[in-house]
Amino acid sequence: MSKPIIYCDFDGTITESDNIIAIMKKFNPPGWEQIKDQILAQEIPISEGVGKLFAKLPSAMREEITRFAIENAKIREGFAEFVNYLREEGIPLYIVSGGIDFFVIPILEKYGPFDGLFCNHSDFSGEYIKILWPHECDSLCKNECGCCKPSIIRKVTKGKDSYNIVIGDSVTDLEAAKQADFVLARDFLEAKCAEWGIHHQGFTTFYDCIEAIKNRIEVKK
Ligand SMILES: [Mg+2]
Ligand SMILES: [Zn+2]
Repeated sequence: MSKPIIYCDFDGTITESDNIIAIMKKFNPPGWEQIKDQILAQEIPISEGVGKLFAKLPSAMREEITRFAIENAKIREGFAEFVNYLREEGIPLYIVSGGIDFFVIPILEKYGPFDGLFCNHSDFSGEYIKILWPHECDSLCKNECGCCKPSIIRKVTKGKDSYNIVIGDSVTDLEAAKQADFVLARDFLEAKCAEWGIHHQGFTTFYDCIEAIKNRIEVKK
């Protein structure tokens, strides 16, 4: 039997809403909404858009922004139980996030360690916040994802007989979902999976994810 591996998105999946949008709404730098709309309309690549958004915020606001992000984030119900379930079953869990290290890492700290945590990095040494991209697209992806989820899946699964389960909510999970054997999807991603005929199931809480994964594993045994 091929071994299940879980790839789970962070913003809007582990947390109930998108942390980058929450930060922008709160600190409201001029022009951020146009950039957000350009990203969503896929007029500019995600990496370019996210870089431009944070380049509007002064590095001196680091503490204030970090504190806000951590206090504001709500973890979706059942996540701690989900992590424990996977640990007990020996199923690897990789967090693949288009979020930024300064909020992703502290918000997830008490739930880890994970088999891997991939997200974008930040540099506060200049006048404005600079986003760094340690997990850029490989030669097979041309989307300028920033944190490239399909590239990470290819890297993790290389040479392995794995059953890849992607969990996510948005447009940034779609390319990963297309490569998955099974997808747990909500919101925009759920609609897209239906449209593309991707093998998926919807979810609301991580209790739903536990049930769905239990069933998938049973079916494959
Ligand atoms: Mg998301
Ligand atoms: Zn990519």
